[in-house]
Amino acid sequence: MLITAVESSVVSVPFSMGGPHPRFAGQPWERLEILLVRVETEDGLVGWGEAFGHAAIASTKAALDSVVAPLVLGRDAGDINGLTRQVLHTVHLLGRNGPFVYAFAGVEIALWDLLGKRTGQPVWRLLGGSEQGPLPAYASLLSYGGDLDLVARNTGAARAHGYRHVKLHELTREAVLAAKAAAPDAAVMLDVNCAWTPPVARDMAAALAGDGLFWLEEPVWPPEDAAGLASLRRHGIPLSAGENTAGLFGFRTLIEADAIDIAQPSVTKVGGIGEMARVITLAQAHGTEVVPHSPYFGPGFVATLHIAAALLERPLVEVLWMEMEANPFDPWVRAQDGKVAVPTAPGLGCDPDAAILARYTKASPTRIEARERRP
Ligand SMILES: [Mg+2]
Repeated sequence: MLITAVESSVVSVPFSMGGPHPRFAGQPWERLEILLVRVETEDGLVGWGEAFGHAAIASTKAALDSVVAPLVLGRDAGDINGLTRQVLHTVHLLGRNGPFVYAFAGVEIALWDLLGKRTGQPVWRLLGGSEQGPLPAYASLLSYGGDLDLVARNTGAARAHGYRHVKLHELTREAVLAAKAAAPDAAVMLDVNCAWTPPVARDMAAALAGDGLFWLEEPVWPPEDAAGLASLRRHGIPLSAGENTAGLFGFRTLIEADAIDIAQPSVTKVGGIGEMARVITLAQAHGTEVVPHSPYFGPGFVATLHIAAALLERPLVEVLWMEMEANPFDPWVRAQDGKVAVPTAPGLGCDPDAAILARYTKASPTRIEARERRP
């Protein structure tokens, strides 16, 4: 069935996080924003996807509207592998890890939603999985800027909400100790978002070595410094990375350098569900654990649930610790008692609530139709 239209829109909802809102990529982060992708086929069937958002939304939306959407119009929506090959080859000279790949990821997720709806199967079934109960989740706390009281209070609150694993976005050992004191029976992870040069990272890993961290995430700048990351392994803390890694071959570099214990591919960044599956297979072939990166709030989050349910053992799903005012993809984008439910309806199984979508969509969606296809 041919693709006849691609729409992009931005859903923007207020949120609270138990402290002052942080900045994201240098921008104030006052509202939660989702870059929503809607793909329509000639029989009127609609699939939903999500491209990497946050501070990248304006860039990714421009890449989608101007280049990626015109490339997929008029193509067979079921030819996911063929479209992946053709689109990513066409845009490779515009960046192998950035807005054009993020934009395609949004389309690709929508194609899986369409395929599932057309065949009457949930995506986890299309990936060869069986029905799962709720998946265990971890609370991914946003940055409280080193405020130890807020770190402790929110760690304790997350534990009280049923989470047994809590991840901090902080930079100090003191924050780790504050979290562990607030929730002694919780596993604590520390994500520093590539804050340190390898020498500083080695010092920090030495200081943290006895603290029982469940993992240390992206300790080294830049994220492609696989050798620098590997140099931390001797301290014995499980190392994780991958949300900024470019596709299958980027993960091959990390794994071959013996740089990570845990691979963290991100479905809205790495190129979609198919590329996630390839990365997971590669990691499993090398005995590397996979814990997806999923700070998303729409189809990108739900796609992660389907992937985790179908392809991973003991998957731990990342859920940002925040309270959204509303979400058109409720209830699938929220955890309950530290667990997340996996939809069982065809496709992603989570079409948006029209009234909530209308209330929180910024401006009108941008619609690119087949008749506008460029030569
Ligand atoms: Mg991270």
